[in-house]
Amino acid sequence: MKVLVTGGAGYIGSVVAQQLLDGGHSVVVYDNLSSGHLAAVPPGADFFQGDTLDRPALDAVLQGGGFDAILHFAAFIEAGESMREPGRFFRNNVTGSLTLIDAAVAHGVERFVFSSTAGVYASKDGPLTEDDPVGPASVYGATKLMVEQALEWHHRIHGLRVAILRYFNAAGATAERGEAHRPETHLIPLVLQTALGNRPQIAIFGDDYPTRDGTCIRDYIHIEDLASAHLLALAGLDNRPFMRFNLGNGAGYSVREVIETARRVTGRPIPTVVRPRRPGDPAILVASSAQIQEALGWKSVYPELEQIIESAWRWHLAHPLGYHE
Ligand code: UDP
Repeated sequence: MKVLVTGGAGYIGSVVAQQLLDGGHSVVVYDNLSSGHLAAVPPGADFFQGDTLDRPALDAVLQGGGFDAILHFAAFIEAGESMREPGRFFRNNVTGSLTLIDAAVAHGVERFVFSSTAGVYASKDGPLTEDDPVGPASVYGATKLMVEQALEWHHRIHGLRVAILRYFNAAGATAERGEAHRPETHLIPLVLQTALGNRPQIAIFGDDYPTRDGTCIRDYIHIEDLASAHLLALAGLDNRPFMRFNLGNGAGYSVREVIETARRVTGRPIPTVVRPRRPGDPAILVASSAQIQEALGWKSVYPELEQIIESAWRWHLAHPLGYHE
């Protein structure tokens, strides 16, 4: 298929773009490089620098292009930041996505795969299924939920084939691509930067949550496993015109457990300091991915947190300063 990948210079989008190319698809990456890295774009993909809010630029890319699908990763992703700058998040994530969906319909693109998030759910002490009630704790989660709803209506009205993937916590690295946000706010890369000595300590945002050790519990999923689900979803759209699936490993780890695992993997001391809670953080988010396993045969190849952190650590050792551009 010919596929447009928005956010294909980012952490998840670039790994999916690579897997698409490996699977024989033709890939055009569309990214404004506000947080992505040109160096992360796979060499076999065409690259177009543009913003999802820029309809003329989208038209120029999609015009006469015969695209079979859009995979839409481009978004602001920091839940904490979304609680400080809600307008920026609604505009970029919601208005940008609506602009892209309009362009998809106008240019006859029939398939749309959307990066959603566990952040659409409220905290739950137990695995979340797709049938659990939504209740975002952050503006970020709310923006993703609004786009999910818009896609559902476009499916019903225009017949757009839609796969919504609700990611839990993407982590780990491939040999070529790793997590390098600017600025970095995610737990595992920050912990590993601390292990490398690039940061003096890792802050634990809150140790008074109703969890086993008081810190937040998340379900970490290896980036390659997350990526493989996109190829299955893309192919699955032929038989299932609307899908909404969770993607996680079904095992939750607390912030302290992640840090302890990273100490074991790296063999280095990782000093910590407890700070106040970060606004927008639910206490516990753990996935049941039974539905995507059942429907598409998805299976995680690297389910263990230790394997996930090992792969991230290898990437950090090889790229101590992230991507060089
Ligand atoms: N976290 C933390 N210190 C940090 C970064 C994150 O304690 O420096 C916590 C954060 O509050 C959350 C968990 O680690 O409970 C995972 O956060 P991350 O930003 O990696 O992913 P999110 O769950 O927000 O998508």
